[in-house]
Amino acid sequence: MIPPMRPVIVAGNWKMHTTPADAAELARTMEARTRVPGVTRVLCPPFVCLAPVRDALAGQNVGVGAQDVHHHLGGAFTGDISAPMLRDLATWVIVGHSERRRYHHETNEMVAEKVARAIENGLRPILCVGEELEVREEGAHVAEALVADQVMDALQPTTGEALATSGLVIAYEPIWAIGTGRNASGADAAAMAQAIRRAVDAASGDSIGLRGADTPVLYGGSVTGANIDQFFAEAEIDGALVGGASLKPDEMAAIVARAGLTAAARGLAPARS
Ligand code: PEP
Repeated sequence: MIPPMRPVIVAGNWKMHTTPADAAELARTMEARTRVPGVTRVLCPPFVCLAPVRDALAGQNVGVGAQDVHHHLGGAFTGDISAPMLRDLATWVIVGHSERRRYHHETNEMVAEKVARAIENGLRPILCVGEELEVREEGAHVAEALVADQVMDALQPTTGEALATSGLVIAYEPIWAIGTGRNASGADAAAMAQAIRRAVDAASGDSIGLRGADTPVLYGGSVTGANIDQFFAEAEIDGALVGGASLKPDEMAAIVARAGLTAAARGLAPARS
């Protein structure tokens, strides 16, 4: 079997920060501070900032992602944004973020429909999964079982062939670590990444192409330049989904610089002497 050659990815989730007046400048700064060979960079600004960020990053090899997508293609859904609306604005989309699940009551079924709509419209999903603190406190196996169910539910309605070519990325984001300053350990994140890959294989069955071994798994949850090393030290972890620190150029520069070392070690970029 050919060993997996997964990309190294750092994605920034700007959440409900920046305006169309200042997002382009921040995107240009981020791009200039994170030019590191072999690292796939993605910025996910608010919907209203997608066009200025896309234009600011034109020709710069940084992906632009939306932070959400509706699970229907169109209709009477005031204030929502569908996958076809995003086609010329973004190439990536975050799906199932815990803040969407919590504040907008998104269920696993809705998340699954969102993954499907994204893929049908050529958007590369970053599927977010993760457990609450009470679940983690019941033990790693309980957390891994819950997250595995989230993964299998999310992939269920999408056909195997479409999944295999979708470029799907899965972000393990323990809910208790998001925006709290408290992060999972690298070892726990790596164990969860293995559980996620087993769930991808289980969802795929025998007949279709998406393999867990080929699926990039990111860690997200209070990632900073100071704690990123322990995640990239784990072979199972392929990158980071960064929230608060993604608005800070010094932090993103440090995170992407560390990602570059992993990219070089994996043969995705020339090693530095
Ligand atoms: C996120 O928004 O996906 C996230 C991980 O946030 P933070 O890095 O701020 O915890």
